[in-house]
Parts: sequence; C-alpha cells; structure tokens
Amino acid sequence: MKESYLYPHIDTLALFEAVRQGLGEGSVSPTWREQSEAALAEASSMLGLLSALSGAPVSIHPITAQEEGVQRWLLRRLLEVPLGLALGDIRGCEHVEMGAGPIAVLAVAWSRRIVCLSRECFERYLEELRPHGEEMACDRCGAQVPPPGPRMTMAQLGHTILVAGLCPECLKGG
Ligand SMILES: [Zn+2]
Ligand SMILES: [Zn+2]
Repeated sequence: MKESYLYPHIDTLALFEAVRQGLGEGSVSPTWREQSEAALAEASSMLGLLSALSGAPVSIHPITAQEEGVQRWLLRRLLEVPLGLALGDIRGCEHVEMGAGPIAVLAVAWSRRIVCLSRECFERYLEELRPHGEEMACDRCGAQVPPPGPRMTMAQLGHTILVAGLCPECLKGG
C-alpha cells in the first residue's frame, strides 16, 4: 500500500531506535523525566476533550515500539513531528518553540502547525488546525473518502498527540 509521510526518504523509526540505543537508559536526567511524565499525563487528559470537540467518532491508538500496519504508520508520523520541528518545517506555538523542557503538544496530520495544549493556543491556531472542506482524503493512503469524510484517529507517543483522518480500510488496521 502507498503511504503518505512528511519525509518519506527518512525512516524515522530506524532513527528513533538508533537514538534510543545510543542514549541508553541512564542518560535522561530525573528532572527531564519528571517533566516528561507530567506532560504525558496532561496529554492523556486532553484526549477526552479532543474526542468531545471533534464530534466525529474517534479511535484512540496507544502506540508501542513494535507496530505493524496502521499503527506503524501512526508511529512513524508521530516521530516526524520532532523531526519537522528541528528542520524548521513544522512550526509550533511559542510555548513549543521556546520551551525549556518537554511539554505536551498537539499535531494534526493535515497541517504543519503544532500547538501546546493550552486552550489559548488551541483557539489562536484553530484555523490552521481544523480540517477544511478539501481534507476528504485519508491521511495515510490518500484515498478519497465520501461524506462525512475520514474518521478522526488519535495516537499518542510520549507527550505528542497526533490526530489523523483515516479511511475505513486504513482504520481496519491493515
Ligand atoms: Zn502554546
Ligand atoms: Zn486510507
């Protein structure tokens, strides 16, 4: 199956594994770990609110390291978020760009804007974050989905939440 990525020529999964092995367990400072855990808790609580806001039925995919099919695609797309930020290709709200530590962020597959989870930033960038009429294509395979369009799917890795619109075929997990 053809799959869409922001950076198809970069295998972010391989990069992720390499960096993780290179860093080892002991390299993360306790402060960073605590901030990361706080951000993770914040992201988890935001998922419920997002489900309510989107109105559409929502599937939530918990992501682990070894994935196949659509889970693998979601994981690779999640890993493209920090990569895009580092490249300057994805733009964050000021809190994401200036943040001294890990904060929870929301990314949507159809936009290169990401935001922290404050209501203020969510509202400020709503135009860039909300799906527009032309986004009737599946974010993974590109297939056109008849109304009401792709179904919203959310995946979370660490403190990053990704929302993507998927066609019924992709949702089945193949
Ligand atoms: Zn912000
Ligand atoms: Zn699809």
